[in-house]
Amino acid sequence: MVEIIDFKIRPAFTSRGDPTLEAEVIVRGGKGRATSPMGASAGKNEAVHLPKGGPKASIEILVSNRNRIIGIDAGDLKALSDTLKDIDGTEKFENIGAAAAYAITVASAEAEADSRGVPMYEVLIGKEKPTIPYPLGNVLGGGKHAGKGSPDIQEFLVTPLGAPNIVEAIKVNLEVHKKVRSIIEERDPTFTGGKGDEGAWAPKMTDEEAFEVVEKAIDHVSRELGYKIGFGIDMASSSLWENGKYVYRRKGKILTPEEQLAYVEDLVKRYNLIYVEDPFHEEDFESFSELTKKIKDVVIVGDDLFVTNVARLERGIKMNAANGVILKVNQVGTLYDALLFSKLAIDNGYKVIASHRSGDTWDHHLAHIAIGAKAWLIKTGIVGGERMSKLMELCRIWEGLQE
Ligand code: PEP
Ligand code: MG
Repeated sequence: MVEIIDFKIRPAFTSRGDPTLEAEVIVRGGKGRATSPMGASAGKNEAVHLPKGGPKASIEILVSNRNRIIGIDAGDLKALSDTLKDIDGTEKFENIGAAAAYAITVASAEAEADSRGVPMYEVLIGKEKPTIPYPLGNVLGGGKHAGKGSPDIQEFLVTPLGAPNIVEAIKVNLEVHKKVRSIIEERDPTFTGGKGDEGAWAPKMTDEEAFEVVEKAIDHVSRELGYKIGFGIDMASSSLWENGKYVYRRKGKILTPEEQLAYVEDLVKRYNLIYVEDPFHEEDFESFSELTKKIKDVVIVGDDLFVTNVARLERGIKMNAANGVILKVNQVGTLYDALLFSKLAIDNGYKVIASHRSGDTWDHHLAHIAIGAKAWLIKTGIVGGERMSKLMELCRIWEGLQE
């Protein structure tokens, strides 16, 4: 047992400049530090990022309850999760904020690992052989992650399923990202090189043009490097949903739920998509279920639909609403709850995609969380320090496994 002997919590900022919290957990012979990310296209069923009073209000509660946290076994993620929920007293961390729950529980797992001299993922999966997930990254995008005139669909994603290892996989994604820029520039010589929150190019372009650009880039890089590259999208449809319709502002197109279903089916066929995230808004389990029934060999992923929440996933499983889940620890708050969610998903044949947030941090923990959650993919962007930190940690872990 490695007891928490002290902890600190301080205000911090994400890559987008939004307020968040950073925690330090100290144990005998080790320490951990973690900072919570924050989403922009956040689901309405997610835990609350920060309380109404901001970081200060959260810090005050935690400091006044410090004696309840000190003494907990840093590796006992359940005990820590239970205590934080008890201190908070609400279903969605309205008083201390999910940012605090994320930062303290992730820092605690790191402190336990540090004191034992093992990688953090070992605290999560024990001595089991780790599997390195493939990287899934957005090369082009719009929606809530970019400015006016960019595509309505939030993310056009690629994953190098044919790459032999993580280092090569990262290179492939970088090549596609570069190629996308050059194709955009051929079409629009006035392109400024603008990017969205996660490093994806954000040109003035309709969704249809974006599909063509990314398809062309994938074909080119795939031929050049000889690897199969999968094409996916995150429609983040809750952001499009207005008064019972899907509103595509850039295109001036409005679709009923039935038309949206037909549109998604058509996109999958036309562009050979292997991955579709949030094709419907966050309460439409029925349409998810219909799409999953209709199309085969495509991973249909719930992000805002499930919000890393076990009860929502149980409902989805009963309805066969999807076959993939996004795992974002800060959607639910504690690392323990997120791992319960991934176990439930895997036990029911769902693929897990461990994901960053649009406002992220320099931390590399997502690499360990993805391995701990037995994720198929890690969705963490392609460029930018806060994205590369996770990818480079995967390279280090991979290198360690070769020795
Ligand atoms: C997403 O929707 O998958 C995403 C990463 O965006 P955000 O963090 O803004 O919710
Ligand atoms: Mg999403």
